[in-house]
Amino acid sequence: LLSLEGATVRFGGWAALDGVDLDVAEHEIVCVLGPSGSGKSTLLRAVAGLQPLDGGRVLLDGRDQAGVPAHKRGVGLMFQDHQLFPQRDVGGNVAFGARMHGASKGEQTERVRELLDLVGLPGAARRAVASLSGGEQQRVALARALAPRPRLLMLDEPLGQLDRSLRERLVVELRELFGRLGTTVLAVTHDQGEAFALADRVVVMRDGRIAQTGTPLQVWQRPVDEFVARFLGFEN
Ligand code: ATP
Ligand code: MG
Repeated sequence: LLSLEGATVRFGGWAALDGVDLDVAEHEIVCVLGPSGSGKSTLLRAVAGLQPLDGGRVLLDGRDQAGVPAHKRGVGLMFQDHQLFPQRDVGGNVAFGARMHGASKGEQTERVRELLDLVGLPGAARRAVASLSGGEQQRVALARALAPRPRLLMLDEPLGQLDRSLRERLVVELRELFGRLGTTVLAVTHDQGEAFALADRVVVMRDGRIAQTGTPLQVWQRPVDEFVARFLGFEN
């Protein structure tokens, strides 16, 4: 479904993405791990079409996406900092996601209800965004990203502000939902436990490059070098 070939993004002289090769198959759930500044958000933005490449290619279904604007790529992206529409209520934010892809009014209302239930905010549709806590806003942003049911959904720290028990519940429900809808997912997380519970495959990034990729078990059992081992929390 998705291929990156030598994808490179530079800011000044510094390569935030440094020749990244990555394939994501249809229906696969891939989690990107890596320290702050390693290029995880840049990777997602490049795939979404929000960050132009300085080298290499992004292909969707084998088609080079150079020059294809973000809204024509058919991919969904949930930003690290939510970016909800403050002037719309919760339901309006979630419905916006659904409306983008031509759902009828009835379908929109039904999907908003379903998604707010899923993220643990039943009945919150009429609430003002500003009245929500940070974690609640994050859950609304997640619902909005899920609403259009994109083939490829990219999530940047989707559960970062939530407490452990909510996170554990959502990971299980999201995995079930992605399986049911056949969604392909590329998600960034800081939380190893979350990556290992959610992902079919993990990608560990370092300084704009992929340090290792494999199933969670492979990466955990056989970290490819000291960097990955340290990052996973092994002392030696
Ligand atoms: P975090 O875990 O903190 O979100 P990240 O892995 O998502 O980190 P990126 O946001 O992809 O990291 O940034 C990678 C590098 O590129 C960082 O050094 C960052 O400062 C730099 N960078 C990102 N966006 C820009 C920009 N618009 N202009 C200049 N430098 C940028
Ligand atoms: Mg980031």
